[in-house]
Amino acid sequence: MIEFRTGVGYDLHRLVEGRRLVLGGVEIPHDRGLLGHSDADVILHAVTDALLGAAGLGDIGELFPPSDPRWKDASSLTFLTQARELVEQSGYSVVNVDVVIVIEQPRILPYRQQIRGNLAAALGLAPQAVSVKAKTAEGLGPVGEGAAAEAHAVATIRRRP
Ligand code: MG
Repeated sequence: MIEFRTGVGYDLHRLVEGRRLVLGGVEIPHDRGLLGHSDADVILHAVTDALLGAAGLGDIGELFPPSDPRWKDASSLTFLTQARELVEQSGYSVVNVDVVIVIEQPRILPYRQQIRGNLAAALGLAPQAVSVKAKTAEGLGPVGEGAAAEAHAVATIRRRP
């Protein structure tokens, strides 16, 4: 077994009216929210895919298909927690995660520590092992026009002794 492995995750969801905006497990007041079958938490989806990728366990769409009614409006913390369990069952533990959320509005900075805390709690990590960064798209493309938000994540896992 390889000692350290790294995985990458990416996700994008449309921002639409009439939906809650949930990012990193935090409900953020805004006039639009992310569209999806679950709560469409783009941060948690990217981190979940990074974990699954690190362990070579497939991807979020395969494990939690949108066609499954169990995941309708589900909290994406469920996906992240299950991904962590799968990583641990495969003989690894999570070392750290780093995530970038790209969203034009609202500003994420006031919620950053709360998001970080949620990720740390779900992954059994110290907050120092979790990084959350926010960017805008400088007005460019669908993210810049406020029609979507995207997230990029990397995760490192380590073989357990
Ligand atoms: Mg998604």
